[in-house]
Amino acid sequence: MEFSTRAIHVGSACDPATGAVVPPVYLASTYVQHEAGVWREFDYARSGNPTRKALENTVANLEGGCGALAFATGMAAIHCATGLLKTGDHLLAGADIYGGAYRLFHKVLTRNGVTVTQADATDLKKLAEAFQPNTKLVWVESPGNPRLSITDLAACAELAHQRGALFGCDNTFATPVLSRPLELGADIVMHSATKYYGGHSDVMGGLLAVRDKKLYDELYFLQNSIGAVLSPFDCFLVQRGLKTMELRVRAQSHTAQRLAEWLAGHAAVKRVLYPGLPNHPGHDIAKRQMSGMFGAMLTLELKGDFAATKKFVQSTKLFQLAVSLGAVESLIEQPASMSHASYDPAARAQHGITDGLVRLSVGLEAFDDLRADLEQALRNN
Ligand SMILES: *Cc1c(COP(=O)(O)O)cnc(C)c1O
Repeated sequence: MEFSTRAIHVGSACDPATGAVVPPVYLASTYVQHEAGVWREFDYARSGNPTRKALENTVANLEGGCGALAFATGMAAIHCATGLLKTGDHLLAGADIYGGAYRLFHKVLTRNGVTVTQADATDLKKLAEAFQPNTKLVWVESPGNPRLSITDLAACAELAHQRGALFGCDNTFATPVLSRPLELGADIVMHSATKYYGGHSDVMGGLLAVRDKKLYDELYFLQNSIGAVLSPFDCFLVQRGLKTMELRVRAQSHTAQRLAEWLAGHAAVKRVLYPGLPNHPGHDIAKRQMSGMFGAMLTLELKGDFAATKKFVQSTKLFQLAVSLGAVESLIEQPASMSHASYDPAARAQHGITDGLVRLSVGLEAFDDLRADLEQALRNN
């Protein structure tokens, strides 16, 4: 069946007891057993819960994995994946990654004797050179954050496997509507469900989907041991959100494409970083690896300095000044002072997070209204 059909029907079977079209939310923290020491499917809600199980089954199906795991936040999901590493192991991350992942990798993992380096994953030669004999995990984002760089996921997976490392991909920006890294060879795909899966800025969550059963079992062990699981009610909200994910992502990507084309010709704009524009360095790979659309995240660089850029992000009205992304309402932010403030200044410069950069999360509002909003803010800048 097609994606949209599976999003609605897998994991959302009607309740056999009452006929309710939407299954009930199971809030119980513990489950009665028939016999001491012989566990039924559910025993204690950290270890498993029917509402979470249903969501995890849906996610595994949509991502093309053998299993999935739901966490309290996206960072909890990434943290669980890094639990595969032990003292002396090396993590190789892409250059264009989420600020929170940067902080976890460099400022937390390193306390436990894991070494971390970053390399430009869009340049396979540079990535290949950055491997060390003890590299156990390669972690990339595509499109990357905030420059929307595009990484050739199939080539990275092949390279990681040749060197004996696992390959994990943060697929938050692309969503499974536009890209399914497991089908391209990734071992783990990760999502901040706070973004497009939830889609309405009203729930936080994280997801891992896994290609093989042995790795799934290892990650399940870590999830249950660490305990940062997604609550039943939040599972319900993510399950509800993902039913419209395909519609939302397609409509939002369409608007983002039109805004990118319009902004690229605006006098106050130095450049537009959007993989759907032919001049984007990753355009050809994105065309091949994403399903004909390029996502609803759009980054632009203004000609003005830090202060002018700050003023610009404060002067839109429909685009609300906030971090986060992927919901029905459009958001605007300045990476240098907001989403990527946890990067050290030198690292920001090295990763091209300039003062003039502005990141837009394009929502479901009408194109004409969004364009008019950006236009008035650019005019007054
Ligand atoms: C938001 C985000 C995360 C972290 O997810 P949380 O749900 O905020 O913990 C990780 N990666 C990307 C690309 C994100 O946008």
